[in-house]
Amino acid sequence: MATIMTPNHRPQMATVRPKVFKKSKVDSASAAKCATIAEALKLIAPMTKIVKRESFADGVDIAAAEILVAGGRGLKKAENFAQLQRLAELLGGEVAASRAAVDAGWVGIPRQVGQTGKTVAPRIYLCFGISGAIQHLEGMRGADTVIAVNNDPNAPIFGVADLGIVGDALEIIPALIKELEK
Ligand SMILES: Cc1cc2nc3c(=O)[nH]c(=O)nc-3n(C[C@H](O)[C@H](O)[C@H](O)COP(=O)(O)OP(=O)(O)OC[C@H]3O[C@@H](n4cnc5c(N)ncnc54)[C@H](O)[C@@H]3O)c2cc1C
Repeated sequence: MATIMTPNHRPQMATVRPKVFKKSKVDSASAAKCATIAEALKLIAPMTKIVKRESFADGVDIAAAEILVAGGRGLKKAENFAQLQRLAELLGGEVAASRAAVDAGWVGIPRQVGQTGKTVAPRIYLCFGISGAIQHLEGMRGADTVIAVNNDPNAPIFGVADLGIVGDALEIIPALIKELEK
């Protein structure tokens, strides 16, 4: 957090990561104007040179998802993320992950939630084998409903969960898939 004062120069511009704040109503009485990134780029076009364009490897934007099914180190191996993908499909959601799962190479960086990943605010955040480290919570606090599965009853994720299930994610994921497929 920082307080930045710029009394001598106008215009002023600020950007925030998607979903960091809830959308507020437009205040028409306010003098401030909001521009999309594309509009802003047009305004500063004479000074701008696009050096490189990067797109998400698999085109996923977890910040836009209404339902996220997230996995962490507790899923143990990459193959178990394939199961998570099936569960996400059945629920109409996307797969997300903790940094531990990304660092292990089980899932790509665009799916990382947290301080050094994406900030997300889905309707439902269903997570398996994620401990709830502060850097992870930072990215998913805005979720409407958090459902956590962890085999450690003292895992910090239960502190932010609306519904907590103490159990083995590797048993619960296939059981959920089976029920949903029915
Ligand atoms: C500067 C900095 C930035 C960071 N940024 C991020 C970030 O953006 N996002 C992020 O996620 N982390 C970030 N981290 C890392 C963070 O501190 C944690 O290390 C990480 O979130 C842990 O991931 P995890 O919960 O998957 O793994 P762990 O903390 O190892 O937790 C695994 C959990 O799985 C449970 N478990 C094990 N087996 C099972 C099973 N069979 N069934 C159910 N549960 C099981 C365990 O009880 C445990 O609670 C950052 C750290 C630093 C220092």
